[in-house]
Amino acid sequence: MSIETIEKDVCIVGGGPAGMILGMLLAKAGKEVIVLESHDNFDREYRGEVLQPRFLQLMEQIGLRAYLESFPSSKLTCGALYYNDKRKGEFSFSGFSKDIPYALWMPQPILLQALYDKAAELPGFSMRFHAQVKELLHDGDRIAGVTAEGAQGPVHVKAKVTVGADGRFSAVRRLGGFEFEYEHHAGDLIWFTVPKPEHWGDELRIQISDGHGYIILPKYPNHLQVGVAVPVEEWKEIREHGIQPFREELLAANPAFRAFAEELKDFKPFVLLQVKDFLVKRWAKDGCLLIGDAAHCASPVGAVGVSLSVTTAVMAADVIYDALEAGDVSAERLDRVQEQREEEIRAIHKIQVRGAKMVFTSTPFIRTIAPILLSLAAKTKLLPAIQRRTLLMAHPLPIHERFTFK
Ligand SMILES: Cc1cc2nc3c(=O)[nH]c(=O)nc-3n(C[C@H](O)[C@H](O)[C@H](O)COP(=O)(O)OP(=O)(O)OC[C@H]3O[C@@H](n4cnc5c(N)ncnc54)[C@H](O)[C@@H]3O)c2cc1C
Repeated sequence: MSIETIEKDVCIVGGGPAGMILGMLLAKAGKEVIVLESHDNFDREYRGEVLQPRFLQLMEQIGLRAYLESFPSSKLTCGALYYNDKRKGEFSFSGFSKDIPYALWMPQPILLQALYDKAAELPGFSMRFHAQVKELLHDGDRIAGVTAEGAQGPVHVKAKVTVGADGRFSAVRRLGGFEFEYEHHAGDLIWFTVPKPEHWGDELRIQISDGHGYIILPKYPNHLQVGVAVPVEEWKEIREHGIQPFREELLAANPAFRAFAEELKDFKPFVLLQVKDFLVKRWAKDGCLLIGDAAHCASPVGAVGVSLSVTTAVMAADVIYDALEAGDVSAERLDRVQEQREEEIRAIHKIQVRGAKMVFTSTPFIRTIAPILLSLAAKTKLLPAIQRRTLLMAHPLPIHERFTFK
């Protein structure tokens, strides 16, 4: 049986935010692109859904902000810090940019479908769902494409540039032998969803309690997505003690969890996410580049993962376009993406690791001082300064008009 073979300028593995944006921009600039996505569609739960002002800044530059904001979403303007049920301070998304005085909550399936619909209008863009990449193809030392397992059997995709945009568990990273420079495992977030009480509004909450820390996010249109922050290995212990003690903790933690907790019989409604920041040492090899979470995974602290991934994708579009034009897809040429992005990624990872230490801890001392630190951070200029650094782009990116939809 002959194996189907496709040839493109660029093969992008992974149809998440980074892969979709990169595919769209390269197709906009006239390149032939295919995106391979292992899932059958864009449906997914518990993914990046808070889109920070910096994401919207970038979309404004590309000319897609108004288009994306026309899809169902809600606007987050403020957040609050709680110690148990006491409000200790507030933070805002509205004071940093007068043009974008909010973050957007948009379910990821809606965002990805909107990007897909836009990209599908471009002649150079193609996408395959149900295409799981299993192997890399080589041409001498150059990575020259992939083999994916499709619905109808294996497919070879040959490409001048292969991009691993396949997320934190990247197959391209593993198959290509890319190495980590560092990896921090701060703890685990245990996610569940409850109906949103009517009085809640669109407030995002961080709550430190005597039990655990909680991140409580209003989820479009009428739910709260709750993450319980547990130190590394503690989830295993919690499960060993059975559902009852955890159920009692949730009953006491917040009235909004009560109905959910009363119905709990086991741990099935919970989804565990390991909270990790990591950085790959070198993102490029000849003919191949890692972008987004595959190269630089940000923990959910601060909810900036999508924004960082997409920023790297936008810069990658420029570097890959130039590399194709120059007929030079060497690692040295593709390194330009990392050279432009690494400093910011490292700085944000440092902030996230510090923040995570406060939330993902069972140390009694930190638990005692956490409420004081929370109040101080909210009352001084510290929190707004950290927010400005992480949630907003300091400067507009240099984006060539070949990549814009204006
Ligand atoms: C629970 C949770 C909450 C989060 N909350 C936020 C938030 O509120 N705001 C925020 O900005 N960020 C948040 N993040 C982080 C954010 O989701 C990621 O940073 C972002 O999705 C990374 O985008 P990406 O395109 O690089 O990778 P991904 O979104 O992970 O996309 C990778 C894609 O590759 C596909 N894939 C994987 N392997 C293969 C393969 N072998 N072959 C083909 N396809 C493959 C996957 O199916 C997936 O579609 C959160 C993350 C989690 C897990």
